[in-house]
Amino acid sequence: MKPEDYNTQNKPVWCPGCGNFGILMAVKQAFAKADLKKKETVVVNGIGCSDKYHQYIDTYGFESIHGRILPVAMGLRLANHKLKVVCIGGDGDGYGIGMCHFIHAMRRNLDVTYIVCNNQIYGLTTGQTSPTSEKGFETKSTPNGNIEPPVNPIALALASGATFIARGFAGEVPYLRDLIIEGLNHKGFSLIDVFQPCVTFNHKNTYEWFNDKLYKLEDHDPKDRDAAVAKASETDKLPIGIFYREEKPTYEDEIEQISRKPLVEQDISGVKMDDLLDELS
Ligand code: SF4
Repeated sequence: MKPEDYNTQNKPVWCPGCGNFGILMAVKQAFAKADLKKKETVVVNGIGCSDKYHQYIDTYGFESIHGRILPVAMGLRLANHKLKVVCIGGDGDGYGIGMCHFIHAMRRNLDVTYIVCNNQIYGLTTGQTSPTSEKGFETKSTPNGNIEPPVNPIALALASGATFIARGFAGEVPYLRDLIIEGLNHKGFSLIDVFQPCVTFNHKNTYEWFNDKLYKLEDHDPKDRDAAVAKASETDKLPIGIFYREEKPTYEDEIEQISRKPLVEQDISGVKMDDLLDELS
């Protein structure tokens, strides 16, 4: 596969310069390198500027409601765990309204890849403070400055049991592509939090700001949880790369009913629905 094989006829409607363009490019390049088959892949989105990816990637796609990307992904995996399920959404969707699902999917080690386009603002609704906005950040909803400390998604993922945790940057496409490939190849829950400049509404966390703050994790052992916690806590400079990785059975591995074959391939012609309902009532 080539990245352009995943193109659709839809043209992205993002603002010129939006970080989502770099992420879309990295995702398509990663899909091509990982040789993802269109008919065996589903992109699940929620609601927000970052939730249009299924319209621009030629695989199966599902637009869920706000914050519910992961429950939809879990349903897909339980129905047919042969599918590659890739979740893409924003920080408001995943770390705000979807926070509970985020934690539970990680502690279960659901075998999906979750790419969070983290622009530290609500872009689609024209610029309000999001769960990852910095303290003091002035927006329409916090004209006197945000009084809340931000969510730290990497630290939260470590505490919640995610088995692959990485962070990338929309302005470093080849590096991000390689992180996404690692996430796609990981068996279990993989989080790739991506710093994504919102050029229209976030005039603080710009490409220049990130270029000044970011550095690549090089001498870091992703098996070392304590070191990962320390790296996740850094704020003066912000590391990108793989923070943590471990091998563990997935949620799907633990379900006996799908151990031989996916639910969708099982023969239920002999099942009498009325008897089943009676038994459960
Ligand atoms: Fe991108 Fe921000 Fe425009 Fe949304 S509002 S498309 S996040 S630049």
